Order: sequence, then structure tokens, then C-alpha cells
Amino acid sequence: MAWRSHGTTNATLVESLRRNGLITTSRVATAMSSIDRAHFAPSEPYQDRPQSIGHAATISAPHMHANAAESLLPYLQPGARVLDVGSGSGYLTCVLAALVMPGGTVVGVEHIEALREMGERNSRKSELGREWLSEGRVKFVKGDGRLGWKEGAPWDAIVSPISLRCSGGGYLVRPRLTWQQHVGAAAAGFQQELVEQLKAPGR
Ligand code: SAH
Repeated sequence: MAWRSHGTTNATLVESLRRNGLITTSRVATAMSSIDRAHFAPSEPYQDRPQSIGHAATISAPHMHANAAESLLPYLQPGARVLDVGSGSGYLTCVLAALVMPGGTVVGVEHIEALREMGERNSRKSELGREWLSEGRVKFVKGDGRLGWKEGAPWDAIVSPISLRCSGGGYLVRPRLTWQQHVGAAAAGFQQELVEQLKAPGR
């Protein structure tokens, strides 16, 4: 039912994702309800499809964000530290923040400065976002996310839409084919940098 989970408001979008089984937990439903996608998507924010945000980037479709949050949920507890690689519009960064508060930290790393700024600017549109930014709970930094963000490591979770050829460990979202196709920015040999920055079990 992906692509058919449209809404006319943020609330009906979340309801639709829930009805179609794309959101299965109340925690993800509550987090996505608390972040208005209209602050991040330039047009048709409640349609279940990706939208261009310029600079050859997109804000992913809502069902992709739901899937990322649901997949990582065990690691997104209050107080957790999360790295969002390729933060783009900043939407997923804020949804992740809603899941790890109180006490958590989410850093969005973006390699295009204009998009780093966009993520920050979009987050400032809500009181919650302004509060998180001013407290340093949410940060947008410029960098090559394939290298992670050592200054903030270790991370409880790293989420990335760019291709990570990582084996094992549930802490790192292993991008599904759709995420890889979506960005197609694969590079060999970088995943180890990210794995080393995780609080992985058995390490
Ligand atoms: N996470 C956002 C954006 C997805 S689009 C969302 O889900 O809506 C992918 C983003 O990754 C783009 O903003 C692109 O500029 C960024 N990106 C691609 N390669 C990157 C890299 N090596 N380091 C950091 N950001 C990267």
C-alpha cells in the first residue's frame, strides 16, 4: 500500500500510513504526528510520494520515513544518540528527534551546504524544532556522511538513504533497495567508518 497512503493533513497522512500497515507502532505514529511535513516538503506535503527539494535531492516519501523509523525503533529510545546521514529537508532528522526525546541527540550530516541550511531552517518553523536546535539536541552539520560524524560518536543508530554495504548488526539501517535506488550514491569501503562509530552489540 506504499504510494497510496495519502492524506489531506498531517494527521490524516499518519492515519493513512497506519491503516495501510506502514506504521505499526504508536511511537512512530506519535512522532510523525508531532512533526508537520508541510514545514519540510515544498509542495503536496501530505501525498505519499517524494518531492524535489532542489540540488538534485528529494524529501523521501512518507512511507519510506515510516519504514526507517520502524526499522530502527528498538534503538530509538529516549536519550539515544542518532546520526542521520543525508539530512536533506531535515524532516527525518526531526522525526528521529521526536523519538529520542527527552535527553536524546540527533545530528543530520549533509554534504551540500544549502541543504544543511535548509534542514535547519525547516526545523526552526516549529517551536519544538527551535527548542531542540537551541538546546543542541538537534544539529545539522556539513560533511561527507559516508565517513559518519566522529565528533558525535558513538551512535546508538545511524540512518542513511545512501548505500551502506554493511553486514550484520541492527543498529545501522541497512538501506533497502528502494533507498539505494533513490539516491544511488554508493561508494565502496566507507561502511567500516560508520560501523566503528556505532555502539554495536558484541564489539
Ligand atoms: N533524508 C532526507 C533526504 C534524502 S535525499 C529524506 O529522507 O527526506 C538524500 C540526501 O543525501 C540528499 O540531501 C543528498 O544531498 C544527501 N547526500 C548524498 N550523499 C551524501 C553524502 N555522501 N554525505 C552527506 N549527504 C549526502
